[in-house]
This record gives sequence, C-alpha cells and structure tokens, in this order.
Amino acid sequence: MKSIPYTLIRSNRKTIALVINTEAQLIVRAPFAVSNREIENLVEKKIAWIREKQHITASHEEKYAHISWKDGESILYLGNAYTIMQIEIDSPLLDGAFLNVPRNSRKDDITTWLKNEAKKIISQRTDYYASFMGTKYECLHLSEARKRWGSCSTNGSLRFSWKLVMCPLSVIDYVVVHELAHIAYKNHNSIFWARVKTVLPNYKEAQNWLNLNRKLIEME
Ligand SMILES: [Zn+2]
Repeated sequence: MKSIPYTLIRSNRKTIALVINTEAQLIVRAPFAVSNREIENLVEKKIAWIREKQHITASHEEKYAHISWKDGESILYLGNAYTIMQIEIDSPLLDGAFLNVPRNSRKDDITTWLKNEAKKIISQRTDYYASFMGTKYECLHLSEARKRWGSCSTNGSLRFSWKLVMCPLSVIDYVVVHELAHIAYKNHNSIFWARVKTVLPNYKEAQNWLNLNRKLIEME
C-alpha cells in the first residue's frame, strides 16, 4: 500500500531523491536498480519530513500569495505569519502574532508600510554585505517586479522586490548577496557560485525556500 501518493521517475542517477514540487506533490527520483519496496520503505521513513514540506508549500502558496489584506487575514513578515488586526492605532505595529493596523486600513495602507519596512531592512542588509564582500553598489531601488526577487544592472545599481520583506532574513540575505556578487561576476558561472558560497555556505536552503514559495512574488 502506498502510504503517500507520489510520482516515480527512474534514471541513471545513483541515489534516491525525494522532492516536493511547487504543487506540494511528492516526486521520487530513483536509480533503475532500486526496488519498489526500498522506495516505499524510504518514503515511509521520511513521512514526517514529507508531510511537513507539503504543508509548508501548500500553506505558504495558498495562504499568503492570495490574500485580500483584510482584518483577520494572515500575512508573512520575515518568514513569520502575523494576523492583520484593525485597532485604534495611528500606524501599523507588529505585536506578538498580530500586525496591528489603524481601523479602516486598506491594502495600500498595509503595503505602503511593508514597502517602508522592506526598504529599511534590505538597505541595511545590502550595506552590511557590500562592506563584508568589499563591493560597492551604485544605488538601490525597490521594485514591483512579479518575476524577479532581485537584479543588478551593468552600472551596479540594484533592484529588489519589496515582497522580499515576506521572506525569512536568511532568504533576503541570499538575494542580496546574489545581486552583490553580480557586480563582479555577471554570469551564473562556477566562480560566481563559489563567491556566493564563501559568503553564505547554506545558500541552497534559501534557494529551496524561494522555490517552494515562488508564488509570493506573483501576488498583486
Ligand atoms: Zn543572478
């Protein structure tokens, strides 16, 4: 009996890999030589990890990429969920598990606040890593991009999506370091990735997070 449904893809690879795709489905990549029983056993053994990954994928994509910014709804801020709560207050304020906002706040009021937060946080992280990496950038802008988290122009000016403020700090750091590394290395060649890795040895975890939550950048 299959404990959890999955798509099996066999190839010449040497090891079994379990992958949760962006639709929260389990894909098993396995060598030809491995038996179905062995695959079943591995899936069974990893079931808690699989369920958790599927949950994260499903919840982030469904819950946070399609929000209407109303009272009682959850938003992501630095990777944590906060419930929007309208109260008697002058400007938005994080308080425990809540993002308190003034009564009758609308989407634009909340996104304006988020964009300000994004500017502060991203500027600060960029300055920190620019000095750490011995790199100079020309200027920094926030963007409304719905495809790219960040970009670097040939003259060294950086653009970052304001929606990065929804990602964990480690993910913001990865996007910042990635774009700063582009000032010296324009292509995604091995030297570029080696540079990123010396600054952030665990950068692949951030890439995984972005893959699992790619719909966040498409939100209106
Ligand atoms: Zn790049």
